[in-house]
Amino acid sequence: MFWSLTSKWSAGLISTGEFILVLALVSQITGAMVFIGRAVNATARAVGEMREGLGDILLPYEINDTDNATDIAVSSGQVEFSNVIFKYGKNTIFDCLNLEIKPRQKIGIVGHSGAGKSTFVSLLLRQQDIESGVISIDGQDITKVTQSSLRRSIALVPQEPTLFHRTIRENITYGLLQATDTEVFTAAKLANADEFIRNLPNGYDTMVGERGIKLSGGQKQRIAIARAILKNSALLILDEATSALDSESEKAIQDSLRNLMEGKTVIAIAHRLSTLRKMDRIIVLQNGEIVEDGTHETLIGMDGLYAGLWQHQSGGFISE
Ligand code: ADP
Repeated sequence: MFWSLTSKWSAGLISTGEFILVLALVSQITGAMVFIGRAVNATARAVGEMREGLGDILLPYEINDTDNATDIAVSSGQVEFSNVIFKYGKNTIFDCLNLEIKPRQKIGIVGHSGAGKSTFVSLLLRQQDIESGVISIDGQDITKVTQSSLRRSIALVPQEPTLFHRTIRENITYGLLQATDTEVFTAAKLANADEFIRNLPNGYDTMVGERGIKLSGGQKQRIAIARAILKNSALLILDEATSALDSESEKAIQDSLRNLMEGKTVIAIAHRLSTLRKMDRIIVLQNGEIVEDGTHETLIGMDGLYAGLWQHQSGGFISE
């Protein structure tokens, strides 16, 4: 443009004013083109990121509800595994597992790493389907009920609870969406979380996560316990943290777990000696088989795997 303008101007075909006008217009058009280019680039990048993120979140259901699935009704929390066979590919994890857990019984599952403890819990939550046999809760086969009702009926306190980047109140309410403020506060009190929450900058309205407050492992655990208390299901699954949390949290968690477990059927993958002591019954798994089953005292008396784990405990935790 500049070359063409200069040659036309020197030949006297355009005036100096026209020369400057065209030059100014060209620079404005170039600016607009650069802006549009950047916007297109940013949009393409945002679409790509969104697609990648949604791909992680929106996983297709591997397990589907049967056509005539009904909602499960859990009142007493009786659990039964009968002749359960489960494999990961060719690797048989449970070969004819039988176990009955009575209503309100509290059982601790222990065993070396890889024994099948997490798999046992994931089968009860129906995260995977079994090859044969039946898993039932209060006499209802879990493959014949809707998965959403199954998840609603079981309270789960995971080893490393995930909190959403929302307020503490919303994080607790996740246990029971229609809960009132009073119910949330009561649950938090029972979970020994009320005091630390009220000491946060905005109390229950403090944001958690990247743009908010960072909570300690023990505080997150107590929020997860508050969620489970609010959910108030007859069946509770507890996956204990394998290592010690800060000492203040440790005691608070023990007290809050006592509140949470009261009157419920509890299945705990337990690592703490203090939790195991509280259990009515301990199941020892080894290579997917129940090798010992009884109270803490009975198993110690048997001098088997459990007694061995107990003897090698360190700092209040049994080593796997
Ligand atoms: P634990 O909780 O007692 O440590 P797991 O239930 O995690 O034991 O594992 C039991 C067995 O199942 C192990 O041999 C493990 O390697 C295998 N396993 C666990 N998860 C998977 C998976 N997603 N795919 C294949 N094998 C798995």
